[in-house]
Amino acid sequence: MIMDNFDSPFLYDHPEINVDSLKKTIVYKLIFLIGRSPKEASQRDWLNATLYAVRDFVTEGWISTARQARSEDSRRVYYLSMEFLIGRTLSNAMIAEGIYDLAKEALSELNVNLEDIIEKEVDPGLGNGGLGRLAACFMDSIATLGLPGMGYGIRYEYGMFRQKIEDGQQIERPDAWLEKGAPWEFIRPSKRFTVPFGGSIHFEGKKCIWDKGEQVVALAYDQVIPGYKNDSASTLRLWSAHAGELFNLEDFNRGQHIAAMEGRASIKNISRVLYPDDSTWNGRELRLRQEYFLVSASLQDIIRRHKRSHATLDNLADKVAIHLNDTHPALAIPELMRVLIDEEGFEWQKAWDMTRRIFSYTCHTLMSEALETWPIEMMAKILPRHLQMIFDINDHFLEYVKTYVTTDTDFIRRVSLVEEGYQRRIRMGWLSVVGSHKVNGVAAIHSDLMVTSTFADFARIYPERFTNVTNGITPRRWIAVANPKLAALFDKYIGKEWRKDLAQIENLKAHMNNTELKHEIADIKYANKVRLANYVKKELDVDIDPNALFDVQVKRIHEYKRQILNVLHIIARYNEMLEHPEKEWQPRVFILAGKAASAYYAAKQTIHLINDVAHVINNDERLRGRLKVVFIPNYSVSLAQLIIPAADISEQISLAGTEASGTSNMKFALNGALTLGTLDGANVEILENVGKDHIFIFGNTVEQVEQLRREGYHPFDFYQRDTELRTVVDQIINGRFSPNDISRYQQLLQGLQYHDFYQAFADFRSYVDTQKLVDEKYKNRDAWIDSTIQNIVNMGYFSSDRTIKEYAENIWHVEPLKLSR
Ligand SMILES: *Cc1c(COP(=O)(O)O)cnc(C)c1O
Repeated sequence: MIMDNFDSPFLYDHPEINVDSLKKTIVYKLIFLIGRSPKEASQRDWLNATLYAVRDFVTEGWISTARQARSEDSRRVYYLSMEFLIGRTLSNAMIAEGIYDLAKEALSELNVNLEDIIEKEVDPGLGNGGLGRLAACFMDSIATLGLPGMGYGIRYEYGMFRQKIEDGQQIERPDAWLEKGAPWEFIRPSKRFTVPFGGSIHFEGKKCIWDKGEQVVALAYDQVIPGYKNDSASTLRLWSAHAGELFNLEDFNRGQHIAAMEGRASIKNISRVLYPDDSTWNGRELRLRQEYFLVSASLQDIIRRHKRSHATLDNLADKVAIHLNDTHPALAIPELMRVLIDEEGFEWQKAWDMTRRIFSYTCHTLMSEALETWPIEMMAKILPRHLQMIFDINDHFLEYVKTYVTTDTDFIRRVSLVEEGYQRRIRMGWLSVVGSHKVNGVAAIHSDLMVTSTFADFARIYPERFTNVTNGITPRRWIAVANPKLAALFDKYIGKEWRKDLAQIENLKAHMNNTELKHEIADIKYANKVRLANYVKKELDVDIDPNALFDVQVKRIHEYKRQILNVLHIIARYNEMLEHPEKEWQPRVFILAGKAASAYYAAKQTIHLINDVAHVINNDERLRGRLKVVFIPNYSVSLAQLIIPAADISEQISLAGTEASGTSNMKFALNGALTLGTLDGANVEILENVGKDHIFIFGNTVEQVEQLRREGYHPFDFYQRDTELRTVVDQIINGRFSPNDISRYQQLLQGLQYHDFYQAFADFRSYVDTQKLVDEKYKNRDAWIDSTIQNIVNMGYFSSDRTIKEYAENIWHVEPLKLSR
């Protein structure tokens, strides 16, 4: 193996510890924290003992970071997000501390295989997809850059559901991620806050009084986020709902055990489940409660921290920046206003000026159905004081619009925070824009579209408020953890600093014509494909050939992401292969994964279709193994770490103008896959960075999509005109892939024939033709490897460290702590 003479990518960096001391620590944790002797310990016991031991290394730096932040007393940033998809912690933490090899050796002397126990750690599934994963990359970068800041979220008892596939269909199973123990977190019994709901309001003169209803206790659990080799760590504080004093001991003592427990159970519901709905928006009372729960507890904590070192809140806006990850925590705006005015006695205008200096907001969508709105009746019932505050903010805002911008009544109606109509609703997106000093989109094209579509009216009122910060990903997790062989190769050629400064990946350009490097890159890709093939064999009992081209689409299943377009092409290819068996077909494996929201019928049907097609194709011997389709169940961060380094082609095929940025596109390219994509989201910037010869771009542009929509899009015409498309569609409709239930996909496909809102038919021809170019290029192994390398070396821009530096400098105005190193 070429790797044998490489330096280990995992460095020793704690000179004070050695194999023996680490062994002792792990055994100590096993016995005294877990209560097992090494003889009886299960793999999970060893995992938990190791996690406790590694956590110790992070903890000192964590405490000293907090002390440093207190003593510097500079401005801090608080990142509020309903989701954090952090993935497994152990290997990331060992790499951050530079003790991976040491731990491996220590465990091996205890007869435990480190890689085996790493696989036992459950992913904390506290997010749906891209938005939550972005928040996790951001925490990693905040910690690594040593910025004074922390994250706030909810400690859902049940994360994202576990996806099983039975008879080709998605089955949802609860994800009880806490059941096996959560040794990485610190419970903070002293950090508890009461969160009120309901009740009513009345006025005393001008003063609005909230007579609060029920109360819920928020209890803090801290996830330590290690910075990469800086003896520093950041905090992700997650709130859990408890009944607090509400427990009725009298009832309990009178024997009414059930009644005494009931109140507690319904209160704990607040942090019970993550809403498994990714892109569309359903308003639900419990979700509104969750959002306020996060906001109220976090703001109380932020204000408590400020008051500990300041006699006044007058300077709060100098010391605090709060970032809203999408509109979900937007209630923080009226909540801060309420605290400042009702509890701290500030004047309205002063409170409003402070609030707007404190908040900033990231918009993650352009699809209006994904922007939250809440019915006024629901808000009146659950948060009456906040509703009143939002009305006041709206009056104040509309006054400004009328005086300074326009008196056009239609304009006023459009920008009002209150949507009029059959059911009046509060527009949380508008509230977030009005209450923030900066609003950003997440890729250049998205930010441009934001100010010409979704927020066009607001861009007229506040042109200076809108900006772009292109997303990024952390090279620690997405190279060092996910692709250790590639990490070792980088180390060999360009040294180890790329982990902290991904721009240095450019230095690999000097070696680009080195044939040894090319061979090594090809070998690493092959090894990663073998790793994935073994997993697929074990989990699905399907044989896939690592010499085939691995064509991968892994992400949430959604119509706008167009997995269906992928399926249409797979079937077209299948037909052509059967028609021309004599041709030299490039062997291909199509790999798909992703969860569908539980109530999203079209998405679930798509999963079913993928599996039905896979069943037919994988069992068709005429293909002689040259075409395979696999759907890997239960997509997660850990699966992404396994799948992405094994990809040759990265499918990023959303309808132009619908994917705000995407981040898996960045993970793939950095791991040497070539993008096959539309001009959407960050694909556009990936194209600019890697160059047009090293990426496959197809399909309509945003302008063409809009033109088609304006002029009337008739998918049926495309169906009729393109025989290949027509054949594929007819086959699915006629039950070619569901012979026992021939009408299974009639509805899904008729939806495409007559509506096709995401214009899959319009892009079909260009997609299929571009797939041919992919085959052609893959035949030329040298050209392919060259392009792979061009992708890797040109991805420096897409580090989340760059992203976070932009936020810190241009939006949050926070500076790194003066850490000892
Ligand atoms: C990166 C990532 C995503 C986001 O993928 P997109 O293709 O950008 O939507 C979703 N889920 C997981 C587990 C990820 O790692």
